[in-house]
Amino acid sequence: MEMVDCVVVGAGVVGLAVARALALVGREVIVIEAADGIGTETSSRNSEVIHAGIYYPAGSLMARFCVAGRRALYEYCAEKHVPHRNCGKLIVATNEHEDGRLADIRKRAAINGVDDMRILSRDEAIALEPNLNCTSALLSPSTGILDSHSYMVALQGDAENAGATVVFRSPVRGGRAGNGRIEIDVGGDEPMRLACNLLVNSAGLHAPGLARTIAGMPAERVPTAYYARGNYFSISGRSPFSRLIYPVPVPGGLGVHLSIDLGGQARFGPDVEWIDAIDYNVDPARADSFYAAVRTYWPDLKDGALQPGYSGIRPKITPQGAPSQDFVIQGPQTHGVPGLIHLFGIESPGLTASLAIADHVLEVAATG
Ligand SMILES: Cc1cc2nc3c(=O)[nH]c(=O)nc-3n(C[C@H](O)[C@H](O)[C@H](O)COP(=O)(O)OP(=O)(O)OC[C@H]3O[C@@H](n4cnc5c(N)ncnc54)[C@H](O)[C@@H]3O)c2cc1C
Repeated sequence: MEMVDCVVVGAGVVGLAVARALALVGREVIVIEAADGIGTETSSRNSEVIHAGIYYPAGSLMARFCVAGRRALYEYCAEKHVPHRNCGKLIVATNEHEDGRLADIRKRAAINGVDDMRILSRDEAIALEPNLNCTSALLSPSTGILDSHSYMVALQGDAENAGATVVFRSPVRGGRAGNGRIEIDVGGDEPMRLACNLLVNSAGLHAPGLARTIAGMPAERVPTAYYARGNYFSISGRSPFSRLIYPVPVPGGLGVHLSIDLGGQARFGPDVEWIDAIDYNVDPARADSFYAAVRTYWPDLKDGALQPGYSGIRPKITPQGAPSQDFVIQGPQTHGVPGLIHLFGIESPGLTASLAIADHVLEVAATG
């Protein structure tokens, strides 16, 4: 049986960032990917927003890794010429009650280390975004957007330059842990068995399922996978706004917001739709609920303007109605299996946080 030092399962943005980090510290790395290219699942079905780190609970991994990851990501994008724009974001209040909530949001952000947010009067906000309806707004200058595919190509390039290999069409079917190493069974055109010192399970939506197929991994430590689809609707023509526009968050979600891509196209969403199985179809009827929500901050939205776009699925590990879960990164100190690291529940802000998650995985690997 062939033996390698490290195997990373999954060539999404997080798996690629982890592979890059491991390769850069001199470890031998193979990334094993089921699909025939990088980033074909959640990493290419998101808002491509570089989040500031505003809403996450203080001290959570999401808060820490979002703020650290965002700083590292801006530097990385500049250094590697990954297309991105630090366009900023406005959280808009449209009534007196919401006006009062902006100060709380700013306070929470400051606890997370996001200390550049500024409350704007209605006139100041409209001077920035003339098409906006609001009573006041909160400006997040450090929010931005990026081309996530170019980012993943850059990560892959770095990893390969440092000696890593990425193999495609190679689904990992299962494995066994024992004697300080992990053996895995890889399917696909050329099925093989491989042994490694370190296995990083970065399989996104499939990470809990994969963890359960590894003999020796305590089943009670593996969370159940739940899926919450986020649907997007787009409008034709250029975006009416040059910054990202978010309503004041509602319980359980960020509200129907507007993000823009680097080409200047606007999209609305994602909403939250709990589903039982992975399915990316967008139901056009869901547009109905978007119109009223969007018109609170953009009254000029015309009837019939919203077109179904795409969807992404949040890799949830808590069911509908339960409190949101933080990222769960399990190493040997959590589950007791040497050489095994699982990444569970890496939903938003996983793209922003990817470089910080990779640094954390290096630390877990070093102590495990
Ligand atoms: C609707 C939505 C919007 C989002 N918006 C943002 C945003 O604006 N900003 C932000 O920071 N984050 C955002 N996120 C979060 C971000 O997209 C994810 O955190 C990130 O893409 C997760 O990357 P990943 O590598 O963990 O998973 P994935 O991209 O899903 O990659 C997992 C990979 O593992 C492979 N795989 C699975 N099982 C196996 C197996 N058995 N063998 C081999 N390969 C396997 C899959 O084929 C896949 O390529 C959003 C998420 C969603 C759902």
